[in-house]
Amino acid sequence: MADQPEKIDALQRRGLMFILSSPSGAGKTTISRMLLDADSELKLSVSVTTRTPRPGEVEGVHYHFVDDAEFDRMIGEDDFYEWAHVFGHRYGTPKRRIRAALKEGQDFLFDIDWQGTQQLFQKDQQDVVRVFILPPSLEELHRRLEARATDSADVIESRMERARAEISHWDGYDYVVINDDVDVCFGKVREILQAERMKRQRQTGLIPFVRELMG
Ligand code: 5GP
Repeated sequence: MADQPEKIDALQRRGLMFILSSPSGAGKTTISRMLLDADSELKLSVSVTTRTPRPGEVEGVHYHFVDDAEFDRMIGEDDFYEWAHVFGHRYGTPKRRIRAALKEGQDFLFDIDWQGTQQLFQKDQQDVVRVFILPPSLEELHRRLEARATDSADVIESRMERARAEISHWDGYDYVVINDDVDVCFGKVREILQAERMKRQRQTGLIPFVRELMG
């Protein structure tokens, strides 16, 4: 798909809060990475979590890793846009940077669960775009979680249980994409992002330009 002049678009509108949710193992992390690599106008909202880093995860890149006391402090200071308990740990979206950057037209990608999605949508319906990624089947999801081999069998089972629960919230999303083939899924998610950027209601900054065109 040919790109619109995104730089110009970005100056004409508020930023998007582009949310990707899925059960773990459905490919959301891969799709997120592909989107961020392909689209220089999109920035990741780096969440804060109380869970410990997995091998290869880098502080400040994948998450900000904090202890319970620090998470409590951040709640007390009203530092979170939203936060939730997921798999026995706490995860939250820090407000800092995001609010001001949205006003300046910066688009953000959020890799958050359904609870966080609901909270962001309640706070900011205008800017939020909610995309849910489904696995092609539960068997394939199980296979992918095993292949990942970063989690123990117990953790995989609890993630499968959690996957079913997460999928039950699919009706809280604007778009649903099945990740059967990662390149195809990525292409579809990217098209959603491009289309949302061009929504007329978002591009109020274009009004003077269009008036001029109308003569
Ligand atoms: P993981 O521990 O596998 O990185 O993430 C577990 C789940 O927590 C994923 O579904 C992920 O989307 C979700 N998550 C990550 N960051 C946040 C956040 O800031 N807020 C919420 N509500 N969920 C998050």
